Amino acid sequence: MTKIDSKIPEGQLAEKWSNYKAHQKLVNPSNKRRLDIIVVGTGLAGASAAASFGEMGFNVLNFCIQDSPRRAHSIAAQGGINAAKNYQNDGDSIYRLFYDTIKGGDYRSREANVYRLAEVSNSIIDQCVAQGVPFARDYGGTLDNRSFGGAQVSRTFYAKGQTGQQLLLGAYSALSRQIHKGSVKLYTRYEMENLVIIDGRTRGIIVRNLVTGKLERFAAHAVVLATGGYGNTYFLSTNAMGCNCSAAISAYKKGALFANPSYVQIHPTCIPVHGDKQSKLTLMSESLRNDGRIWVPKNLEDAKAIQEGKMKGDEIKEEDRDYYLERRYPAFGNLVPRDVASRAAKERCDKGFGVNPTGLAVFLDFSEPIARLGEDVVRQRYGNLFQMYEEITNENPYKTPMMIYPAIHYTMGGLWVDYELQTSIKGLFALGECNFSDHGANRLGASALMQGLADGYFVIPFTIQNYLSDQITVPRFSTDLPEFEVAEKEVQDKIEKLMSIQGTESTDSIHKKLGNIMWDFVGMGRTKEGLTEGLKQLAEVKKEFWTNVRIPGAKDDQNTELEKALRVADFIEMGHLIAYDALNRNESCGGHFREEYQTAEGEAKRDDENYSYVACWNYTGEDKEPELIKEELNYEFVKVQTRNYKS
Ligand SMILES: Cc1cc2nc3c(=O)[nH]c(=O)nc-3n(C[C@H](O)[C@H](O)[C@H](O)COP(=O)(O)OP(=O)(O)OC[C@H]3O[C@@H](n4cnc5c(N)ncnc54)[C@H](O)[C@@H]3O)c2cc1C
Repeated sequence: MTKIDSKIPEGQLAEKWSNYKAHQKLVNPSNKRRLDIIVVGTGLAGASAAASFGEMGFNVLNFCIQDSPRRAHSIAAQGGINAAKNYQNDGDSIYRLFYDTIKGGDYRSREANVYRLAEVSNSIIDQCVAQGVPFARDYGGTLDNRSFGGAQVSRTFYAKGQTGQQLLLGAYSALSRQIHKGSVKLYTRYEMENLVIIDGRTRGIIVRNLVTGKLERFAAHAVVLATGGYGNTYFLSTNAMGCNCSAAISAYKKGALFANPSYVQIHPTCIPVHGDKQSKLTLMSESLRNDGRIWVPKNLEDAKAIQEGKMKGDEIKEEDRDYYLERRYPAFGNLVPRDVASRAAKERCDKGFGVNPTGLAVFLDFSEPIARLGEDVVRQRYGNLFQMYEEITNENPYKTPMMIYPAIHYTMGGLWVDYELQTSIKGLFALGECNFSDHGANRLGASALMQGLADGYFVIPFTIQNYLSDQITVPRFSTDLPEFEVAEKEVQDKIEKLMSIQGTESTDSIHKKLGNIMWDFVGMGRTKEGLTEGLKQLAEVKKEFWTNVRIPGAKDDQNTELEKALRVADFIEMGHLIAYDALNRNESCGGHFREEYQTAEGEAKRDDENYSYVACWNYTGEDKEPELIKEELNYEFVKVQTRNYKS
């Protein structure tokens, strides 16, 4: 049976990371040159790791599916990145960022990891400023901050509504420098399809060249996955269309544990679904909740009139508006964490107070801040987001309140990793959204960019050396070894099977069915009955996919439909894992809300006695139920309590 060792260093919380760094093994410069590292992914996590490894002197092979690293999904991140600099002098500290993150994650993450994250957060800002990232500055020229959910301080650094873009350009510059120096070799339009394991250690990957369709083999002393999250399992999400979980699922099928798959984040401020022909949802950044106020009508008749198009939001009098977040959570108001805000919106809409024709929308209103600050200030802060909203909806948000509704956005679950970011397979590491660490059951806004860059710039450059230090005498591997042969054959067989089906359903239509099942049964409100039914329907979708999908074109050629089909095959596996984990977790915590487990006020009800663990799932074979292995969570430094955003 796979044993869990999270490798948390000894000592006081604030000393663990320093102790680790003081005692870890190092690789000397001449040995670094003899060691190869594969990094899959060029988003913030992958690009920062690959650039750092290159700078350190390792040989790096860096892969991505897009035609440029700059097209990784990270480029889309809007709102900001957290750090505990306390520039606002509003009471922030490393401990407070740590505490807010643990609490925000509903006490389902590891203390030591989260503390380290808070500790290195300040270095990230220094690193990015040194790279020239144009963070917003205040009138005096110092870096500006704004507030994000789940915090009472302003600790979010931002670059208008394009923070991810600017950070990725910074990481890309660092990466480009290494590519130019020859320490990093970049492979664009390559998709990892399988992992190669030799004598229990990860030694390479099988990739499909997306331009030629050919399978190719690459060997290395260690493999780092930074391939992002699995939100697109739900078909409709705020994620970029190319986001997928295939690399993570192939690692899972080779023995890497998958942790907490049911922890999926539903973001409260997205443009509502407007028809069944959509393939993408648009996020309106959480930063908008700094100034925007969320409300629905107090009276059902008004809501009905709006739904029927007989009335507009701005015709509702102030006293007839229900600012339900401010009413329910006076201390945090519109800045409650995402899970809380999403559920509150659903609750109002379920009761009939929704404000669009489908009844599935609430208002995000800027009339008060525009009156207080002026339109110019609001435009400076959020101009590009307002413009994006108007382009999509044809409504001017400076004049009429925006309409928003929760949507799938981020996945807290992922490949299980220990303190060193190593998965349960030796020599395989996972970074960024691809791993499960740090956010528990709910991620706070602006913390994903922080985690991805912490992992890539400041954690893995140390921890990977501890692994590689005993690999210095291991010569480079030949890709002609039988293990490479077998791994490639597995992919070849899978592709041939898919191409031979030639059924009647397109990949997209099956993906959409998968997404509908996931949203209906494994979405914002989950029940035992719903999850059981969902699992049944997921099995039917899997059968339909493998007997009736139609993939045009050839396998040995550029074929975007085949690319999609390979990804959807893995989304189906992922869907099963999410539902299975959700059914096992008989409690509500963070983004996982089981309707059976709620307080009288409709808040999530945890069961710490029985579920204070990381659920690690071990693959046991095709169509067999996975095995559950538990990593108990021990809270030594914070008192575990019910989350309170009211007072
Ligand atoms: C619309 C939106 C806005 C957001 N805004 C914020 C924000 O303001 N602040 C914040 O903290 N977080 C934000 N997030 C979350 C954050 O953007 C992501 O969590 C983060 O960027 C993920 O980075 P990553 O490096 O882990 O993965 P990604 O950026 O998704 O990169 C994945 C990389 O892996 C590659 N890849 C994937 N599969 C394969 C494969 N099989 N083979 C080869 N390569 C592969 C891709 O090509 C890509 O290079 C936002 C998310 C969304 C959807």
